[in-house]
Amino acid sequence: MMSERDIQETTGRLLEKWGREPVNLLQILIALQQSLHHIPDQAVDLLSSTLNISQASIEGVIGFYSFLHTSPRGEYDILFSDNIIDQMLGSRSLATQLAERLCTNPGDTRCDKHISLDYTSCTGMGDQGPAALINGYPLTSLTPERIDRITALVEMEVPVTEWPEELFHVSDNIHRRDLLLDSDLPPGRAIESALTQGAGRLLDSLGNAGLRGRGGAGFKTADKWRFCLQAAQEQRVVVCNADEGEPGTFKDRVLLQRYADRLFEGMTLCAAVVGAQKGFLYLRGEYLYLREPLEQELEQRRSNGLLGQAILGREGFDFDITIHLGAGAYICGEESALIESLEGKRGIPRIRPPFPVTHGYLGYPTVVNNVETFIAAAMIAVYGADWFRAKGTEASTGTKLLSISGDCQRPGIYEYPFGTTLSEILDDCGAEETQAVQIAGPAGHWVAPEEFHRTIAFEDLATGGSFMIFNRSRSLLEAVKNFTNFFVHESCGFCTPCRVGTTLLKKQLNKILNTHATRKDLESIETIGTLMQETSHCGLGQTAANPILTSMKKFPLIYKSRLRTTSFEPTFDLDASLEEARLATGRDDPGAHLKRGGV
Ligand code: SF4
Repeated sequence: MMSERDIQETTGRLLEKWGREPVNLLQILIALQQSLHHIPDQAVDLLSSTLNISQASIEGVIGFYSFLHTSPRGEYDILFSDNIIDQMLGSRSLATQLAERLCTNPGDTRCDKHISLDYTSCTGMGDQGPAALINGYPLTSLTPERIDRITALVEMEVPVTEWPEELFHVSDNIHRRDLLLDSDLPPGRAIESALTQGAGRLLDSLGNAGLRGRGGAGFKTADKWRFCLQAAQEQRVVVCNADEGEPGTFKDRVLLQRYADRLFEGMTLCAAVVGAQKGFLYLRGEYLYLREPLEQELEQRRSNGLLGQAILGREGFDFDITIHLGAGAYICGEESALIESLEGKRGIPRIRPPFPVTHGYLGYPTVVNNVETFIAAAMIAVYGADWFRAKGTEASTGTKLLSISGDCQRPGIYEYPFGTTLSEILDDCGAEETQAVQIAGPAGHWVAPEEFHRTIAFEDLATGGSFMIFNRSRSLLEAVKNFTNFFVHESCGFCTPCRVGTTLLKKQLNKILNTHATRKDLESIETIGTLMQETSHCGLGQTAANPILTSMKKFPLIYKSRLRTTSFEPTFDLDASLEEARLATGRDDPGAHLKRGGV
């Protein structure tokens, strides 16, 4: 039992470590959670008085992030990955097996506070699942035998730090290399190139290379960096978005594990171009195990004069990178939400404009790019625009890393030139009898076999990297249900169409799965989905209906075969269900209704 004095000492030490800066609130809360297994009221009091943040605000931050808790979690805190791919590999039955062995239930903390067991959205281990996290560290390739070993270790109260390393082994599983993974990048070479060429020529080179952000939206990297450079402020900031929360994606994990030096090279290159002194790597909480090696890599670069003061001996070129952890909130992958989170707040997407590139972290012009984009920029700085353009298509130059998981013989990382067809990819990874591929995660595209001639490209199938394969034995409706539940869980709750709409979709889908739905329910789904697309505040709500809407279009039979023949079976009044939201927002105009002139 933690004494009040222990709580005060731990909180005081962490406040000291993070400079008593309000902007570091989230980092302090994460460290408290790790040390004390929860965030006690006394710690909240102390943080509130020291940082001059209201208790309500601090509690709001704690409540926002899945990995933070005000009531104690078990000393062994186990979270099974609930991604559909983990489910297909048997995660649910393994979680049940472990729960039975340890006399608890998924979702519970055992009354002796020894064990907590629950599910989490996706741990980013789709190529080596079923996976789980224990106290934040990944357990991979789980089997009934491994579950028995874990049971024994927990029952014998062996500290997690003393468990056999092979339980935590994370493989790279790189099966295809191309431009980025097959070429050398000597440390410092890209930065030298930036310093020699100057910002203008380097930006021209990135522009000529046609480099676009690898997150999926495809904004031109040179333009983003140029806007930041041109913003009228003294300070600028470089942020790497390593939140990688899209279920089915894990390529950033491998890049961070094996190619971190290239990433830091790319961030420093960006700092040289835009004139930034401060950099952040925002690392998703599920990749906690990577923090220590990444800190070592940063330290190595500082020792080699590639970070810190006067980089490469150039007076005035000062830049350093701090790692900030996330705490289990998918929405923080959205760049303005990520910046809010970096500032220690709830990760609610900002209203744009202004855009982060001119008003980002603490109001400073901020470049936010993902891991793959920074690495590509560093490679272009060394090898040139033509080298990069030699691969890919006119509108999508270079290559794309894919995280391939699901029904295939060789799941893992594949680097392909843009323009590669799905058929080729499916052949390479050993997929057979494929019924459908889901590209770009739950918010992305369902692709049916008659479309497997289509290509990975911004002008065709854009993706951040998730490539999930479902063979003919799978229920696509189960996958749609998993994706829809994911959005219910990850909606930040800020706006009504998303908060209410995701729940309504979930109810409707359950009705279909229980064969109680009629054609009218499909029409309702379209109405709700359209409303969400048109009125949600950010991309999450705007795309949360995609799994249902696109599967209804591409695979209508899976829905029709489950419908009742009666014309209508009411379950709830859609418009009435929005009444609470109307009261909360003080709106009662036609636009706030699904009828009366609303959508
Ligand atoms: S759309 Fe959803 S995730 Fe985005 S701000 Fe609204 S509630 Fe939050």
